[in-house]
Amino acid sequence: MINIQVVHPYDCDVLIAGGGPAGSALASHLAQKGVNVIVIEAQRFPRDKVCGDGVSPIALAELHHIGITGLDGFAEANEINKVGLFIREDKVYIDLEKEDHLPYHARIIPRLQLDNWIHEAALKNGAVYWEEARVADYFITDNMVVAEIKRNDTTVRVKAKVIVGADGSNSTIARILNGSKPSDEYQLLGLRAYYENVNGPRDRVDIFFSDENYPGIYWMFPLGQNEANIGLAMVASTLPKKEVHVKKLLTDHIEKNKCIRERIGNGTIKGRIYGWPLNFFNPANRITANRLLLVGDAAGLINPLSGDGIQYAVLSARRAAESLLKCFAQNDFSATALSSYHSKVKDELAYDFSLSNLLIQFARNKALTPLWMEIMVVLIERAKVDKSYAHIIASIFEGTYPSYKALTPSFIGKSVLQGGLHVGLSTATGMLQGPDYWMKKGKDISRIAGDIANSIKHNPSGNIKWLSGLFKNGAGVAGHVIKSMRKSG
Ligand SMILES: Cc1cc2nc3c(=O)[nH]c(=O)nc-3n(C[C@H](O)[C@H](O)[C@H](O)COP(=O)(O)OP(=O)(O)OC[C@H]3O[C@@H](n4cnc5c(N)ncnc54)[C@H](O)[C@@H]3O)c2cc1C
Repeated sequence: MINIQVVHPYDCDVLIAGGGPAGSALASHLAQKGVNVIVIEAQRFPRDKVCGDGVSPIALAELHHIGITGLDGFAEANEINKVGLFIREDKVYIDLEKEDHLPYHARIIPRLQLDNWIHEAALKNGAVYWEEARVADYFITDNMVVAEIKRNDTTVRVKAKVIVGADGSNSTIARILNGSKPSDEYQLLGLRAYYENVNGPRDRVDIFFSDENYPGIYWMFPLGQNEANIGLAMVASTLPKKEVHVKKLLTDHIEKNKCIRERIGNGTIKGRIYGWPLNFFNPANRITANRLLLVGDAAGLINPLSGDGIQYAVLSARRAAESLLKCFAQNDFSATALSSYHSKVKDELAYDFSLSNLLIQFARNKALTPLWMEIMVVLIERAKVDKSYAHIIASIFEGTYPSYKALTPSFIGKSVLQGGLHVGLSTATGMLQGPDYWMKKGKDISRIAGDIANSIKHNPSGNIKWLSGLFKNGAGVAGHVIKSMRKSG
């Protein structure tokens, strides 16, 4: 009798490139359901990742399902109950209310710890990790994906049914899929430094807006007993040309800003300042194809207003796991079968991202920065006296409130009213101060107009690019508004 042996042609069901929050959360979900998963990770755990270390309530709700919130280390992480917003000489402290459907307040957890916890949860569920190895290339046939893995000086080929790009903002998988690196139009740069021996409080994060890095923010997030994560996020196309000047923005801010100086006190920097790029959502890019999908930063799932990405990394991991499990049930890994994942990401996140992209596009024109600063002052003034308004602003930065939800008549009305009061108050103060005040106001307005005229004169192509970006992003938002109006009736 002839004994026919069927050799399984695959080394695994799903090959995941990258073991950060997106890759390891996906590995954990799939392995728990019995899917055979290999994660290829370029570094060795525990590994650090440049980040603000802020983990939002939505991210924590996801991580709760993976078992992270039951760990001893989690109970020790700083819980955040307040946010301080600072602009010029003005500031407001806002209490963060916990949403009923979200079990935890935000926490500050060093990525060295957090990512290791998620990796260990995936290992416990049966995922296999190849550390200090990189996915260097892949090709897709009708029946499988073949990935080339480089480890030390050797290259091996791994055959899988599906490949997932969870390899972060410099994703190899996304670059091969979309044919190029992400454009700097959709890029932020983040810098981070750790400080030790700083002052409290341990439960308040501070966010600073200022003319020199707008549209961007500085932050100070308290870590442990007396440490802090201090950094900046900035739109890449508005960066100073040299890296040393970008770092100087952060060191100058730390040196000169009175509020952050008070909090640092006698504290000192621990280690170096590190930088890392972040790509935000470009609707033109693909995130699925035959036998392939992208999650987390590799898919550009970053909120351009706050730079937050962990919650989108773990949310996209869950959505990807749901779609992949359906694909396994039907043994269909075609682009059409995987498009359900793309639709979910678009439905849940793309409207919020498109509005944030539009706001960033407006603010990218540096000639308009003084106007934006005035608008931010108005928002902060209103937040001081109106608790529900303050709650919306804080929740947008906390990532629990999509920015498009702020487009309500009440929120806009209050902002316009506050703007009117702001102008009225400064006019009244101006009248009391007499002609000097009006001379100064007149000069301010003509300076802004002059800056705009100069910028158009010296950089016509840049301004045309800016305007076309506004139209493109505006059209994107309009599309989402129409879609959501149709849905609601
Ligand atoms: C300065 C800064 C501050 C930030 N602050 C916050 C914050 O406070 N809160 C927040 O929510 N988000 C923040 N973010 C964003 C957040 O860091 C990311 O959104 C998050 O790390 C995304 O997780 P990920 O798993 O998609 O990617 P990553 O965490 O980048 O993980 C990708 C993994 O893939 C590995 N890898 C890369 N290439 C390959 C390859 N070819 N083969 C195999 N492995 C590979 C890498 O080693 C890495 O471990 C910040 C980002 C920056 C830069």
